[in-house]
Amino acid sequence: MAAVTMEKVVNLCKRRGFVFPGSEIYGGLGSSLDYGPLGVELKRNVKEAWWRAVVTGRDDVVGIDAAVIMHPKVWEASGHVSGFSDPLVDCKNCKQRFRADHVQSPTCPACGGELTEARQFNLMFKTYVGPVEDTASVAYLRPETAQGMFVNFRNVLETSRLKLPFGIGQIGRSFRNEITPGNFLFRTREFEQMELEFFVKPGEDDKWYQTWREERFRWYVDLGIKKEKLRLREHGKDELAHYAKGCADVEYEFPFGWSELEGIANRADFDLRQHSQASGKDLSYFDEETRERYLPYVIEPAAGVDRSTLAFLVDAYDEDEAEGETRSVLRLHPKLAPMKAAIFPLLRKDGQPERARKIYADLRKHFPVDYDQASSIGRRYRRQDEVGTPFGITVDHDTMKDGTVTLRDRDTMTQVRIPEDRLLDELRTRIG
Ligand code: ATP
Repeated sequence: MAAVTMEKVVNLCKRRGFVFPGSEIYGGLGSSLDYGPLGVELKRNVKEAWWRAVVTGRDDVVGIDAAVIMHPKVWEASGHVSGFSDPLVDCKNCKQRFRADHVQSPTCPACGGELTEARQFNLMFKTYVGPVEDTASVAYLRPETAQGMFVNFRNVLETSRLKLPFGIGQIGRSFRNEITPGNFLFRTREFEQMELEFFVKPGEDDKWYQTWREERFRWYVDLGIKKEKLRLREHGKDELAHYAKGCADVEYEFPFGWSELEGIANRADFDLRQHSQASGKDLSYFDEETRERYLPYVIEPAAGVDRSTLAFLVDAYDEDEAEGETRSVLRLHPKLAPMKAAIFPLLRKDGQPERARKIYADLRKHFPVDYDQASSIGRRYRRQDEVGTPFGITVDHDTMKDGTVTLRDRDTMTQVRIPEDRLLDELRTRIG
């Protein structure tokens, strides 16, 4: 197994239509990336897997989809206006900017020049709502999705019949004017998050914090990430936000080192308290069992769609030998693979293409599948291996006689013959 490098993954993504440089025909825009036809499927599958595991698969979580532009007061109450900033240093010589906490040396990492003193740089993108660009209409693009859940806490409580403990989940775009974006999908200025706010009775928060740490770690493992490349890192007391009771990061060992995929935090009642005070609306919860009223505590697992998509890609990337050639293969979990199967006629004659196209049309009603009749069958398998398609279905001479096809497995490269009419069930079982 050859070592995976970011270069190999980035090249594969460009070559096969997973991720393109954003606005490429205009020379690109720093760290802006576009998902292509295969990338969009992969990313949708990541989000769907999260939504099922965290929202619809549970009876104690519901979803929302809140606006990107929220009332500016939200960001005052949340602490983002005053505190959502990174320390910035400028190089006096080459004028490049760096995050002070990312620079190891006292001089510029690019040219060795002298650096300015660090100053705080707010990461929120400002915009103007309405036609007049005055300060009264300043608003922000949300830097996280979490606040949508807090400001809708009462709406959700009043319209659902949920009782504590319960959660509200959301997937959506967030924007941060990062000082130093980079490492491909890892850090961009526009990205998607998958966040859950799980509200609990104070006193039960430690237990739920542990539960969500474990649940969230297991999610990555269940979707195929190698266990030895994942770890849960508990934050030290000095790393914790002043209100947080605990925080742990799920980290993945990328080619550029161990880096955060997701943070799970025990935020106590900080957010609901802040919004209660700032809005003047009571966000407390009345516990019918104990006849008490209190502000719930919240456990927040906050994950990045793009970061986990990158981790799934990097982790799945492999090279091995097939028929004497080096094969690059994405060993993506079938649930995440953009295409679930590819259908090939062995020959471009004897009615095989028509038969294969019929199978293709039938299966496409159920999940994304591909059809390919160009070049040798070995080449066609290889093309699908490279984009992670877990199953190959070949129509050959025998199909025309007895109605069976071959079903090839991407990882083991073994083939079995099965009747055409059992394909759908067989694929469903194997995809899981
Ligand atoms: P970092 O320290 O890497 O900047 P963070 O701790 O500020 O991240 P959170 O605010 O906890 O990140 O956001 C939750 C998740 O959102 C992160 O774990 C990550 O997966 C994702 N995320 C945050 N910022 C970005 C970004 N600029 N690009 C891509 N994903 C991001």
